[in-house]
Amino acid sequence: MSRPGSPGTQPGPERSLPVPDTSGDPFAVPVTREQALAELHAGNRRFVTGAPRHPNQDAGHRAAVADGQHPFAVIVGCSDSRLAAEIIFDRGLGDLFVVRTAGHTIGPEVLGSVEYAVTVLRTPLVVVLGHDSCGAVQAARAADATGNPPGGHLRAVVEAVVPSLRRAAAEGVDEIDRIVDIHIAYTVEAMVDSSAVLAAEVAAGRCAVVGMSYRLAAGEVRTVAGVPADAVDVAEPAASAALA
Ligand SMILES: [Zn+2]
Repeated sequence: MSRPGSPGTQPGPERSLPVPDTSGDPFAVPVTREQALAELHAGNRRFVTGAPRHPNQDAGHRAAVADGQHPFAVIVGCSDSRLAAEIIFDRGLGDLFVVRTAGHTIGPEVLGSVEYAVTVLRTPLVVVLGHDSCGAVQAARAADATGNPPGGHLRAVVEAVVPSLRRAAAEGVDEIDRIVDIHIAYTVEAMVDSSAVLAAEVAAGRCAVVGMSYRLAAGEVRTVAGVPADAVDVAEPAASAALA
């Protein structure tokens, strides 16, 4: 089995076809959005079940990727300290291009980073990663309810969440973790709507944007949104079976 960390197998600047079958091998490099999504789910299952393999974290792989990166997924996640992408997806160096802000709020620098990954690095999958009990969503909700926004730049975070609060209210949703799911879906849509570059990559079939919600206690991710819509149907695992 060819492994990126092995001598002489360092990936070149362009991924080659035909597309390899990477299923079940955390050391193989996913190429398509379907493979990337399947590998994230597989890694999360390893993490949830207490059987992580910690791929691509050894010194050999560190040396192999020193000259270039080919991450297979962009993670736009909440900054929450319990949401470390490489840990919860059981990945290593060079696998994930990670951008994190409180409440996975997006601004120009976030969008520019995503555009870099999908156009220059040719990363086929963008994941918006939120989680239950999100403090940023809770803070926004409290500020909105009292009409008393926080000072400093934290206000920008709160204001970025308010459209999700409005959508939740319009849908009659009041429970915090359902609001979080709405905020994740909103972020997926807002990212594509705000970035013509990303929208073009999605339209061309080179990239998908998927929203996932993480449960802090259980450690599992659940897909809640996606663009294009069929992206959410790809390789969704039988999470309950994995946990049984
Ligand atoms: Zn959060």
